Amino acid sequence: MKPLAKAAHEMPRSGIRVLLDLAVQMPDAIHLEIGQPDFPTPAHIVAAALQAAQQGFTKYTPNAGLLSLREAIAGKVCRENGLRATVENVIVTTGGMGGLYSAFTAVLDPDDELLVPDPGYPNYAMVAALCRARVVRYPLDAASGFQPCLDALPHLVTSRTKALVINSPSNPTGSVIPAESMAALVAFAHEHDLYLISDECYEKIVFGVQHVSPASFDEDGRVLSIFSFSKTYAMTGWRVGYAVVPPEIAAIFVKLQEATVACASSVSQKAAEAALSGPQDCVEAMTNTYRQRRDRALAILQRHGLPTYTPRGAFYLLINISGCGQGSDQFARDLLAQEKVAVAPGHTFGPSGDQYVRVSLAASENDLETGLERLCNYIARRRR
Ligand code: PLP
Repeated sequence: MKPLAKAAHEMPRSGIRVLLDLAVQMPDAIHLEIGQPDFPTPAHIVAAALQAAQQGFTKYTPNAGLLSLREAIAGKVCRENGLRATVENVIVTTGGMGGLYSAFTAVLDPDDELLVPDPGYPNYAMVAALCRARVVRYPLDAASGFQPCLDALPHLVTSRTKALVINSPSNPTGSVIPAESMAALVAFAHEHDLYLISDECYEKIVFGVQHVSPASFDEDGRVLSIFSFSKTYAMTGWRVGYAVVPPEIAAIFVKLQEATVACASSVSQKAAEAALSGPQDCVEAMTNTYRQRRDRALAILQRHGLPTYTPRGAFYLLINISGCGQGSDQFARDLLAQEKVAVAPGHTFGPSGDQYVRVSLAASENDLETGLERLCNYIARRRR
């Protein structure tokens, strides 16, 4: 038989999913690997979807999404993110991932270079591989709580560099980029004529700091902003997010969505509308809980004498495993086999990640405490 398509065949799998597949075979494993809220979707959002389904709102929507939802999104990003947007700029997507997929596909030609954070969300490299583009990783500085090393960026630019990916709040580090650095990143993109793809899927999960959208500094329409309902409203399975992009790029997104998914689920779009227009105290309550868990996790690590940093957003914490005599993949496999605790191996986030494992704080307090105690004891044993 003729070989399958090289790009799809050779695309790496997310290491998080590999570990999850192993962990689900172990019924009593503690799951600290997967990044999704452990809360149910708030009741008023579910009710809106149920009502839509019962009223027969079950057909395709326009490729760009429901006009009423796009209007609500345009209002939200102007009010809350400092963007200048109308419905012409807004596309409803199948989760943040759908927005990222369209953004990468719209921007990248084969052999183009794409600057992505190291460590960073593995799916950036996966979609870049499908576009046959080359990933060039820029370092995050562990000593500053994983802020982008702004000084390193200009040295990575070549004539083929097409775009810069920013993710704040970050998966896997939980770092949040402050306004001054965000402005500098937009200026850098401008200076080198790069598109800036901004993944803001964790925008609402911040702990005492402000989320800043790079598009609020954009003066010439080079920022593609990607948002999601998944994490903010505990809606990972509903598969709905949105992109805010210049109108000419929005027109490309419309074509791409027709060719791939047609549109986001109609019922989910009604749920998303209810999420935006309804009470927001559920978001605050979930964020407060993540913050308490972060503090609890940091206290456990400190008690075990493990050095750490303070994540300012999202719901992740990287734990340094250097000195354990194992790469992060073997570490995660052995930890699962011996201690029944699943964590994400850091190598899946980029080469610098191999000295870490990622713990998700989106787990019950009990699981988090038991899992972290076992993890700390395992590290202590390995380091003896
Ligand atoms: N971006 C980041 C950084 C993520 O961590 C995730 C999911 O984990 C996504 C995007 C995509 O999320 P979704 O497609 O559910 O909105």
